[in-house]
Amino acid sequence: MTTIQSLNACSDADFVDALRGIYEHSPWIAARAAQARPFASLASLKLALQSTVDAASIDEQLALLRAHPELAGKAAIAGALTAESTDEQASSGLDRCTAHEYAQLHALNADYNGRFGFPFILAVKGPTGRGLTRQAIIATFERRIGNTRGDELREALRQVHRIAEIRLNALLGITPSLGAVVMDWCEVLGALSDDESNLTCAYMTPAHRRTAAHIADWMRAAGMTVHVDAVGNVVGRYAAAQPGAKTLATGSHYDTVRDGGKYDGRLGILLPVALVAELHARGQRLPYDLEVIAFSEEEGVRFRSTFLGSSALAGSFDMALLDAVDSDAVTLGDALAQAGHDVASIAAIARDPASMLGFVEVHIEQGPVLLERGLPLGVVSAIAGSSRYLVELSGVASHAGTTPMGMRRDAAAAAAEIVLLVEDRCRNGDALVGTVGQLNVPAGSVNVIPGACRLSLDIRAADDAVRLAAVDDILAGISAICTRRGIGEKLFKLLEIDAVPCAPRLMAQLGAAVEGAGLPRFDLPSGAGHDAMRMAQLTDVAMLFVRCGNGGISHNPLETMTADDADIAGRVLLDFLLDFSDN
Ligand SMILES: [Zn+2]
Repeated sequence: MTTIQSLNACSDADFVDALRGIYEHSPWIAARAAQARPFASLASLKLALQSTVDAASIDEQLALLRAHPELAGKAAIAGALTAESTDEQASSGLDRCTAHEYAQLHALNADYNGRFGFPFILAVKGPTGRGLTRQAIIATFERRIGNTRGDELREALRQVHRIAEIRLNALLGITPSLGAVVMDWCEVLGALSDDESNLTCAYMTPAHRRTAAHIADWMRAAGMTVHVDAVGNVVGRYAAAQPGAKTLATGSHYDTVRDGGKYDGRLGILLPVALVAELHARGQRLPYDLEVIAFSEEEGVRFRSTFLGSSALAGSFDMALLDAVDSDAVTLGDALAQAGHDVASIAAIARDPASMLGFVEVHIEQGPVLLERGLPLGVVSAIAGSSRYLVELSGVASHAGTTPMGMRRDAAAAAAEIVLLVEDRCRNGDALVGTVGQLNVPAGSVNVIPGACRLSLDIRAADDAVRLAAVDDILAGISAICTRRGIGEKLFKLLEIDAVPCAPRLMAQLGAAVEGAGLPRFDLPSGAGHDAMRMAQLTDVAMLFVRCGNGGISHNPLETMTADDADIAGRVLLDFLLDFSDN
């Protein structure tokens, strides 16, 4: 039986031999990684192997990629694959392709190899380790063939690491069972939708209420007492060993955007529920009341009013929102009443800050930073503040054929300069991002110089001073562009939210738990808003980010993560909960 201990204790030659099948025909990886022994954990062994490949020359990396067989290729048919590859390809049914699927895969293999110069590599055992369907494999193949070569080279290497991760698990007899349970639950909830063709779970719809019921059932089965409050938050409480203890809360939201992903929000609810089930099974209580809160609304899809769930807990629920209407003219108040909620009880949801020890939220990163760094987890330093504006530019609409270039007042050309100004100003800022997400020429025509243009600005940074300096520069730049071009400008401020820093004492405890798992602590800001922003009005907050696959995409059905990453996030959160200190 191979263990981390035996891998640490054996000779270099035996180490290389034990890891022979982990990276396809590439024993040099284990040989170099052997020098980094001893490894504190399986996670640190995986990281050492990855770092070895990342530090290798481009020729070595390409040789590693080229050591892999084609998916469902000639070698598979001739039986000339390594034992590991044969098993993996068979697990996805690639040995049972239809004639049409073989033809598709062979054409894709040839296109891909011609374009990139190495074979298409995909961990066919997938995010859960139990195998992707042939349809999913072909869809991924078709998507990735459109990548740039640099992006695809990095993705191929990440897939090689994922294959190695699954093979290492098998070698060491380790199953990421906690992570797999959580991913299975996300799959169950992902099937409850307002829309048959995708995952949409908007506030107080039938799918939303069924989702809440599932979460409540899992919480009860995990040994928690459960109540659903007047805004639809599902609150599971795992009582302390002693009565009268304070509360440490964790959780996230269970609503989704339209056509969203399965892990956004839900991971941060279901992971702690699975942990409580473990604690309950071994009869272990914590020195505080642990609450897992499934916030009913964060995304703002139905009533365009975000953070309904967490603002109610924080005592900042805006009762005027009860009159907000959805696209069918149903008010928020009526939607709540129809679901059996008593709006008169909303104010009573607010918690007493003195009863709270803190709030920690686990969430998928929804970006590519951890993925690019090869790290499963990150500690959030702050949730970025944001400034949003609408800019209306007015020029002169005139004939596209008869107006000489030097005599135009083109509102869209001014907007184009503004887009590039935003990009340029935010490119080198510290945790600063700027986006023009809306850009249109109202009633524009192909043969008319744009007389008007409307565009949006979204500027975010983890540091308020950095953001406000960028906003000042960008607004001054817009004025300069408009003056030079003879364009009128009107500016409307839509939103200004300050950044929410995470509590250093909670970050330190999360960081210690990450390091305890044999991983480096890596801090990063959150560019997206989260329930923790509202909970920060009530108590100290912290967040743990989990790596997203597929280039870090989120708010999209392609959003993905792995059972291994969910599992290690669970182990880290459990250590954090067990070692929690209120100092
Ligand atoms: Zn979310």
